[in-house]
Amino acid sequence: MTAEEKIKGRRIGVVGMARSGMAVARQAKRAGGHPFVSDVAPAVRLSAQIKELSDIGITFETGGHTERLLEYDYLVLSPGVPLAIDILRKAERKGIPCFSELEFASWLCQGRIVAVTGSNGKTTTTALLGEILAAGGLDVHVCGNIGLPFADIVEKVTDRSVAVVEVSTFQLETIADFKPQVAVILNLTPDHLDRHGTFENYKATKYRITENQTADDYLLLNREDAETMADNPESEATRLYFSTGERNDVASYVRDDSLYVSVKELTTPVIKCGEIRLSGPHNLQNVAAATVVARLFDVDVGTIAKVLKSFPGVEHRLEDIGTVAGVRFINDSKATNVDSVRYALKSVKERVCLICGGRDKGSSYTPIIDVGRDKIKGLIVIGEARDKIFNALGKAFPVQFADSLGEAVAKGFEMASPGETVLLSPGCSSFDMFENYEERGRAFKAAVTALKQSRNSNEKVSS
Ligand code: ADP
Repeated sequence: MTAEEKIKGRRIGVVGMARSGMAVARQAKRAGGHPFVSDVAPAVRLSAQIKELSDIGITFETGGHTERLLEYDYLVLSPGVPLAIDILRKAERKGIPCFSELEFASWLCQGRIVAVTGSNGKTTTTALLGEILAAGGLDVHVCGNIGLPFADIVEKVTDRSVAVVEVSTFQLETIADFKPQVAVILNLTPDHLDRHGTFENYKATKYRITENQTADDYLLLNREDAETMADNPESEATRLYFSTGERNDVASYVRDDSLYVSVKELTTPVIKCGEIRLSGPHNLQNVAAATVVARLFDVDVGTIAKVLKSFPGVEHRLEDIGTVAGVRFINDSKATNVDSVRYALKSVKERVCLICGGRDKGSSYTPIIDVGRDKIKGLIVIGEARDKIFNALGKAFPVQFADSLGEAVAKGFEMASPGETVLLSPGCSSFDMFENYEERGRAFKAAVTALKQSRNSNEKVSS
């Protein structure tokens, strides 16, 4: 079925009025469909959306999903909408198909699609790859989970463009025909078990990224990721492996402290690892993955190296925000699972006073003990998960409790000596105390700025 047949004249229920739902509604209307948008939030909180929908003549409901949705040919879901809600169960019983925004947008995408998933590193790799492909002269559109819905950019994608899409498990849960030319699975560690139930379910959902791929497509996997290698996911795509180890049978590897790439008959060094601006072993993996994909699109090695030397990383991911009285502060608010905390600890060279906690996502915190043993001076725990973290880690490290992030920053600063680091790497989601991880990261940075200012004015007073 063509995109036109899937959309034109069809009655499309859009669930969720956030950015991606709005983008879907707009595209559905543009392509000749009849969208209807439904959201649980009350009208007062959706005034901008309501105005836009009314202006372009799209019908909607607010304050709850009613059975009206069950009159539609199919539903398109925003990524945040859980499949378990009542109306979606009813839709399933009635045989009404549910698709993710990713699936819907892919119908309209004229260009090639690179889809990047994994438990950690998606945004960093997606952003980096976007920069490299753009530097290589391609018409690139970076989108997806990274903050700009795929459905929002799809109009601009021509048959010569590449859409680099950050893909979450939530979006993959409801795909049907989604078929990227290149699919990347960066790594697999337990995450979102609150939504997916078991690690097995979570992995099976991630592997759906390749389910429609054929031999002309590529599936790029992490040779160093034990879970991926143990599962060896089924796929008809041409399989490639990226690695940061020293081995030969892979598309990227590290030898004599240089990153090599081996794609399409060309094996060549790309860059000295020390020249890569992103730091930490995890980022080297992200770099390796992005480099392999860039070579699949024939970007020359010199261009790749140039971007790797300058790409600074993405806000809220191990973001160095400077020092106060010799104590460094690092904002890693995006570390919303335990594995990313472990990588943060491996990446920071100094002793660390770790601020963690937030809303628990069902994983165990004990994996922090091993990497943290010689690194963590103490923990300051915040949010709903603090008792669970205290129970898991309280015997291994000194733990203090804080009621707010501001208090945690003050306690971290008190605990740290000059030359040490206060690291916010929560290992939890932010929704118990903040709107999202960005707001948490900004609150952390504001608390550090306030601390800096109060130190400066004290110094002035005392001098
Ligand atoms: P995602 O989009 O998958 O959440 P990000 O690039 O936003 O990934 O990074 C999220 C967190 O994970 C940050 O704390 C970052 O330092 C850490 N991280 C980044 N890349 C990796 C990786 N390859 N493996 C483990 N942790 C990583």
